[in-house]
Amino acid sequence: MNPEKLARMVDLPLLPGHSGEVRYKCISCANTFELQRLLYTCPDCGSLLRIVDEAFDELKTLSGEQWRDVFDLRKSLQVKGLQGIFLFKELILPQISLDDVVYLGEGHTPMVEANHELAAHVGVGFKVKNDGQNPSASFKDRGMASAISFLNNYIRVNKPESLLGICASTGDTSAAAALYLSYLPKDAVKSVVLLPRGRVTPQQLSQPLGSGATVIEVPGVFDDCMKIVEHLAENYEVFLLNSKNPLRICGQKSFAFEVAQQLEWKTADATVVVPIGNAGNVTAIMEGFIDLKNLGIIEELPHILGVQSMRADPVARWKASGDYKPVTVTPSVAQAAMIGNPVSFPKVSGLVGEHFSDRFECVAISEQEIMDMMLTANRHGHVVCTQGGEAIAGLKAALANGVVDGKGVYVCDSTSHQLKFAGFQEGYFAGSLEEEYGVVSKPELVNKPVALEGEADKIAAHLNLKRR
Ligand SMILES: *Cc1c(COP(=O)(O)O)cnc(C)c1O
Ligand SMILES: [Zn+2]
Repeated sequence: MNPEKLARMVDLPLLPGHSGEVRYKCISCANTFELQRLLYTCPDCGSLLRIVDEAFDELKTLSGEQWRDVFDLRKSLQVKGLQGIFLFKELILPQISLDDVVYLGEGHTPMVEANHELAAHVGVGFKVKNDGQNPSASFKDRGMASAISFLNNYIRVNKPESLLGICASTGDTSAAAALYLSYLPKDAVKSVVLLPRGRVTPQQLSQPLGSGATVIEVPGVFDDCMKIVEHLAENYEVFLLNSKNPLRICGQKSFAFEVAQQLEWKTADATVVVPIGNAGNVTAIMEGFIDLKNLGIIEELPHILGVQSMRADPVARWKASGDYKPVTVTPSVAQAAMIGNPVSFPKVSGLVGEHFSDRFECVAISEQEIMDMMLTANRHGHVVCTQGGEAIAGLKAALANGVVDGKGVYVCDSTSHQLKFAGFQEGYFAGSLEEEYGVVSKPELVNKPVALEGEADKIAAHLNLKRR
């Protein structure tokens, strides 16, 4: 470390001191509400809520450069509560104590330079931020870490009799919710997840079951499950763990903080490519970059490129036409993003209008493009799920039709782990995706095990090995 840097360090708040004045704030009527209530929509007008720190401006006593130093230096500390997303505690939930933080290993996921051949195939160099390397193997852990840390604090302060944590899910929210809830005292909180029957992968289904949650499967798609938990959250005492709960969003901002940090805080010429389902992730990412800009930690907001499957593309349609209409989804291999009426859409339209009007694009791509790109990426040293494949294929499509110009830095969010979606790879290799998804298997991407006898020479003959 250089001496100037060390000198600048001396007075920095390496341990968080700011506790803020954190409240819910309605995105429509702007009324605010105290955080010690469990709210998911505005009691006055029914709109979505955000988490705001009314003392945010106190953070401006440090310069952007000082904040960059604080966050960079904190990475080298071994302080309980600051290891994961709460490294950025002042920008997530400043009011809870470090002892309340539930850390299961989330955050600080690797940003991997795209393999050369893959970059040539896509048409531009890019990076893949592998959020599959979170504890339950998706980015949803970021939002669960904040929501469950809040709940941990809430239980300690309010000592409620018993709470029921509940969510609807396309698979990964339930895996994350069940995992984080299972870490809390069993007499304080129980865990229930609602899944659309047959619309989550076997791996995803095994996760909440393994964590001991009550797993309820209902007919229909995610949107149908969401209506049920919304009704439950309005009418019963439950803690809603969908991204409609802004306590999830504040943790998911950490993706933006990490991207900025991994780009050495230079985001002006960056484009972050995000698959969009319920639109919680893209909301959080935009909000995170806005926080950084407000504190001078970054000079300029990056561009955001949303990607959707043509089979679930309400945001891409809105971006193209200016009109928002929910769509009826049809089966998509990007199943975790297969949502026709994204709950956080009002936040997206507000954030785009106010901050990202010249910095937000959204493209829709085919199932074929998604599958081919997932397999191609994984053949080049990456570990991406169908949604990660969707992000990369979206970048390729956006380049091809001039939506992005190929200058600058591109970061694709691979939102979960490849293995959660192994069934789609299997289906592609077996040629069975054609009927439901319209995906035709390309022979050059198909791979199957070879059954041989357990004899070395026969295996050598099969491999055409040269004798020495
Ligand atoms: C949830 C999820 C998405 C979609 O994120 P939203 O916040 O719902 O837009 C994308 N990919 C994976 C793997 C997911 O689990
Ligand atoms: Zn309101």
